[in-house]
Amino acid sequence: MLTIETFATDLRSYLEPSQIAQVKKAYSFADEAHQGQTRKSGEPYISHPLAVASILADMHMDHQCLMAALLHDVIEDTGIPKHTLGKEFDDQVAELVDGVSKLSSMFESRAEAQAENFQKMTLAMAKDIRVILVKLADRLHNMRTLDFLEPDRRRRIARETLEIYAPIANRLGMNNIRIEFEELGFKALYPLRSSMIERAVKKARGNRKEVVSNVRQSISTCLEREGIEAKVFGREKHLYSIYDKMKTKRLSFHEIMDVYAFRIIVDSVDTCYRTLGAVHNLYKPVAGRFKDYVAIPKANGYQSLHTTLFGMHGLPIEIQIRTPEMELVANNGIAGHWLYKTSDDSDSGSHKRAREWMQGLLELQQSAGNSLEFIENMKIDLFPDEVYVFTPRGEIYELPHGSTPVDFGYAVHTDIGNTCVACRIDRRLAPLSASLESGQTVQIITAPGALPNPAWLGFVTTGKARSSIRHALKNQQHSESVTLGKRLLERTLQTYQKSLADIDPDKLKKVLEDRRIPDLQSLLAEVGLGNQMAHVIAARLVTLPDNIDENEYHGPLAIMGTEGMVVTYARCCKPIAGDPIIGHISAGRGIVIHAETCKNMQDLRKKPE
Ligand code: MN
Repeated sequence: MLTIETFATDLRSYLEPSQIAQVKKAYSFADEAHQGQTRKSGEPYISHPLAVASILADMHMDHQCLMAALLHDVIEDTGIPKHTLGKEFDDQVAELVDGVSKLSSMFESRAEAQAENFQKMTLAMAKDIRVILVKLADRLHNMRTLDFLEPDRRRRIARETLEIYAPIANRLGMNNIRIEFEELGFKALYPLRSSMIERAVKKARGNRKEVVSNVRQSISTCLEREGIEAKVFGREKHLYSIYDKMKTKRLSFHEIMDVYAFRIIVDSVDTCYRTLGAVHNLYKPVAGRFKDYVAIPKANGYQSLHTTLFGMHGLPIEIQIRTPEMELVANNGIAGHWLYKTSDDSDSGSHKRAREWMQGLLELQQSAGNSLEFIENMKIDLFPDEVYVFTPRGEIYELPHGSTPVDFGYAVHTDIGNTCVACRIDRRLAPLSASLESGQTVQIITAPGALPNPAWLGFVTTGKARSSIRHALKNQQHSESVTLGKRLLERTLQTYQKSLADIDPDKLKKVLEDRRIPDLQSLLAEVGLGNQMAHVIAARLVTLPDNIDENEYHGPLAIMGTEGMVVTYARCCKPIAGDPIIGHISAGRGIVIHAETCKNMQDLRKKPE
């Protein structure tokens, strides 16, 4: 088991003695505070903060960050207030610990006070990015000791890790931590799938061994011939990334395993490009697969040259070429940047970019007028395309950026989307078209028998919501047009002292055939939509010439139906309830209703139908 003494000794490699003394003091304080508490594993509680600090020390984080790691559960679990930490240590350490505590309670509390906690979290994030690093290290140690928890909690934590923590680590470029999150989370959440893939990988490894060693040998020989000093590694795919590829790219296990991956580490950027030339000479490159992330790094700072080659017998070979510095940044991401920021090395390549990355983040923090504005930017940075929102029961849903409560409703269940009438965001009534933000709790209010509104199509973003609304509207429009069509037709038939029931079936059949309409329901729908005129159909049905008195007063007609389906209110005069109104049938739109005084109706009055 790790002790504070060995830990402090390890710190000598990069911290000052005075800084190490402060770290030790933080340890003693935390040890005292957690006295008598134990982890689920039975170990004394202090073993956990020490392990968290050690994860951060491996990434060479500064002494304040390590102190915050040692103290991270003190406010939450022992009730020691923030200002005591401020007095005992310094304000920055106190802020960090406070930030981590708030972040923790945000994730651990469920339905209650979710929104408030999220705001605390965002403020904490705004103050210092190190809060997130401590939180990630905290989660990593908890994932490593997950086996001691009961199954339910284990699954919840594993899912949360895959859904929230792994993407954060990825966004910050912390590849090592992301991979460990994914591997541990996958094992805990899907033990069967993970062990099946693990077995298959072990089996495949035997067959691959020879190919891997042959390819590596030929690459090494080729580079030697060119006078390039390089380390060539065969890369194994991780279980979760295999699973993810099978799931998202619909590849078979063998399609994934038949790709051989290598990494070549060389001393300088210049050599990277020479190495690229050498391997392209050795095997034919696959067109369109070359990517230069050295000249144009990824948003999280990642740099490398990527290319794919056709090896012997057409085997695809994926190659990554990078320098040791790039390797460090690829593995540790923002933590690697942090290290560079405090050291005084030359301003070459990745150092400079790393500093710029941090600088950009800090400038963003300073220039933003308030912390919420900063968070908006920070959130976009962390989750460019997704928002995460909660159900009132605390379940997390991932939706595309710009999603609304209606999208959320459909994401939960089609029936909830179809019958939703209102919603609460963070317990306050909000419009259904509101744009959702990460951390909000969304409650959908449904009413039995409610139907989707066509206006929703104007603001929903998810494909699921869009297609479900269209589907529901189509059914709804059909039944409303049938009802309206029937009423229009019956009323016209009344002028002949007839009703639909009196019509001779043969005549009906003839009228349908003439117009190529399959059945009476469809005919009524066509009349309701205004594609067929009621008086023409009525005249045909009673076999009378078309010359009925069109000026005859038909009397009022009750209108009912959803706006935008077969009944539309005119935009010119915007009639409201209680206005005397007049309507006309418009092809394809059903009835358009105007105020009786509307000028636009004067022309139409000449054709009263
Ligand atoms: Mn903890």
